[in-house]
Amino acid sequence: HNLANPAGFYLRFEAEMVTQKRQHFEISNSLYAALEGQEFTLCYQPKIRLSDGFCDSAEALIRWHHPTYGAISPAVFIPIAEQDGQIQAIGDWVLQHALRQLHSWRAQGLSLAHLAINLSGRQLTDDRLAERIAGCLSSLGLQADTLELEVTETFLMADIDASSRLLSSLHQLGCQLAMDDFGTGYSSLAYLAKLPVNKLKLDRSLLLDLEDSPQCASMIRHMIRMAHELGMQVVAEGIESVNQVLLLREMQCDYIQGYVFSKPLSSLEFGRFLTAQPIRQQWEEYLNV
Ligand code: C2E
Ligand code: MG
Ligand code: MG
Repeated sequence: HNLANPAGFYLRFEAEMVTQKRQHFEISNSLYAALEGQEFTLCYQPKIRLSDGFCDSAEALIRWHHPTYGAISPAVFIPIAEQDGQIQAIGDWVLQHALRQLHSWRAQGLSLAHLAINLSGRQLTDDRLAERIAGCLSSLGLQADTLELEVTETFLMADIDASSRLLSSLHQLGCQLAMDDFGTGYSSLAYLAKLPVNKLKLDRSLLLDLEDSPQCASMIRHMIRMAHELGMQVVAEGIESVNQVLLLREMQCDYIQGYVFSKPLSSLEFGRFLTAQPIRQQWEEYLNV
């Protein structure tokens, strides 16, 4: 029908562009108020270690509750914050908030080896990032290896020289580095071997056919083996079914993160989750722990 009625199509297209631009503009404007108005929170999604069913780490994910629009997904506002330069301030807020939370869990006697935060591409062009991270860690008396930094493949590969310099400085600081959304971009395996990455996070989209497709299973098995040979641990993201867990366990995958074990939780809920360590009890039979 687009071809039959090109004028109509372009009108609709234009209307959509206008709506999108307006939405972009409104989100961009509201972001300024969001930090001041304490509209952001962090939630925490457990990562479960397959060898023993323990939760020893988690990923902090930002949430925005807008006073009129309600919840706005980070998948929508993070790219906008990247474009208009507000990601720096938001990124700093995430870093400080996550580390303070980790500090407070530790003070309560809860043990968590690593807490991960997501870094976006624009943050990786900031020369003083390593310095700021170091300052934040030392002001709370936290060791650098408690902080894990998740960086997406696409950003890493966009400017490989600049990002490997920055990653090296973060690595030297002692932070753990994870390559996020692996399998969705165009990374060269040769670069992967050169970057100081500790963990490879296999994207959910790679794992959707795991149960039905022997080709997919074979590919994942080889990716896990390759990662291990490069000295990296593997996290499978977005796992929703028990069968996926069992297959991944058999393939020696190190960690599972997904709704099958837990959705992202509020800080209070995650504190309770750590205390109870419910996965270990529920999964003893499957995980051989
Ligand atoms: P990501 O870092 O790859 O995070 C994983 C996303 O998958 C999260 O979405 C999480 O809620 C979702 N997820 C986890 N388990 C499952 C599952 O079993 N099934 C499905 N369908 N989804 C699952 P979320 O929280 O909406 O975040 C989306 C993206 O926004 C993140 O992808 C990350 O790239 C970005 N993001 C989130 N928080 C931050 C932040 O603090 N800073 C930056 N720079 N980016 C962030
Ligand atoms: Mg992530
Ligand atoms: Mg991801």
